[in-house]
Amino acid sequence: MNYEDYFRRQLDGLRREGRYRVFADLERKAGAFPRAAHHTPSGEREVTVWCSNDYLGMGQHPKVLAAMHEALDRCGAGAGGTRNIAGTNHYHVLLEAELADLHGKQAALLFNSGYVSNWTTLSTLASRMPGCVILSDELNHASMIEGMKHSRCATRVFRHNDVADLRSKLSDLDRDAPKLIAFEAVYSMDGDIAPIADICDVADEHGALTYLDEVHATGLYGPRGGGISDREGLSDRLTVIEGTLAKAFGVIGGYITGSHTVCDFVRSFASGFIFSSALPPAVAAGALTSIRHLKASSHERERHQDRVATLRRKLDQAGVQHLDNPSHIVPVMVRDPVLCKEISDTLLDRYGIYVQPINYPTVARGTERLRITPSPLHSDADIDALVTALSEIWAEVGLARAA
Ligand code: PMP
Repeated sequence: MNYEDYFRRQLDGLRREGRYRVFADLERKAGAFPRAAHHTPSGEREVTVWCSNDYLGMGQHPKVLAAMHEALDRCGAGAGGTRNIAGTNHYHVLLEAELADLHGKQAALLFNSGYVSNWTTLSTLASRMPGCVILSDELNHASMIEGMKHSRCATRVFRHNDVADLRSKLSDLDRDAPKLIAFEAVYSMDGDIAPIADICDVADEHGALTYLDEVHATGLYGPRGGGISDREGLSDRLTVIEGTLAKAFGVIGGYITGSHTVCDFVRSFASGFIFSSALPPAVAAGALTSIRHLKASSHERERHQDRVATLRRKLDQAGVQHLDNPSHIVPVMVRDPVLCKEISDTLLDRYGIYVQPINYPTVARGTERLRITPSPLHSDADIDALVTALSEIWAEVGLARAA
């Protein structure tokens, strides 16, 4: 077999479908968010980023940067080992305590990314409970799906946010079998929100554990930024609340929070925790500062919601259709992968606006979109420039307008 040829043909297939990934070569400029330099073979150009998951711009907040500089000077670059072997730094300990407090839980456990926290926790919990059945929302993130697959447990997929379907799937199961319901708070691509209280009720009826991914909600919702479960006063009804340090908190890393016993169990059995080097102390220090800041300050959250509402209103006025949802994620639907890529290229090349096209398998075929994420740092002029650009492109390519 000619392996090189084989791999090339697979890549050509992606190109034909318009979903071959091209990464924008960006240089983020500390203090200038949402502006970044875009590097191309013909040079460097300033662009406005409209698709970052640094939702609040905390990745460039002066307090976060100062904390990272200080920790770097005190502790050096790396953690020096896995958490078990020399790698537990005092910043990790402080950060875990802060995260437990943020979610009103007894304990927390850090991982190197939200992706790792999902797959390793789900696979560990489920695989270590003989006969466990996982109930999974059909739109769960790839990292959760990987964890479930890796557990080799039976998985029943329930219709998205459909409590009746979840209840009926649970009713079919052996009453005594261990069960784990895995779902998200804010769904990353559609931006809709789970009926968390209702899911917890069904979990109680059927004696199931609950696992909630709050990756797109922590820092952004709730009086202290503890996410949707914090906003709705539901933290203590969830077995595990999982999150990331890489989105609203602006740094990198993932975590779970739960009871002492659950966190201790995962700490003791999860290979993705045990056998991987710990996060650099400076990263933990930056995340700690970011979380503390957002616990005390609602200003960023309020301004964020204001920017989202302003963008939605202006898109409506311009007739540019977007999914109506109750979150900060503004999906502008194109529904064609090639066109979606073309529009993204035009935004970048002609207008200096960067919005990555979102294609299959991140979203279902036929639902290709521009996933727009306003931040507190986007000005009225930025919003106007984006809406004008989209409006002009919509007229050019003949995309349907809302009435
Ligand atoms: N869960 C969800 C819902 C996500 O969207 C993502 C990342 N996009 C992750 C988990 C993984 O988080 P991280 O980027 O920290 O690996």
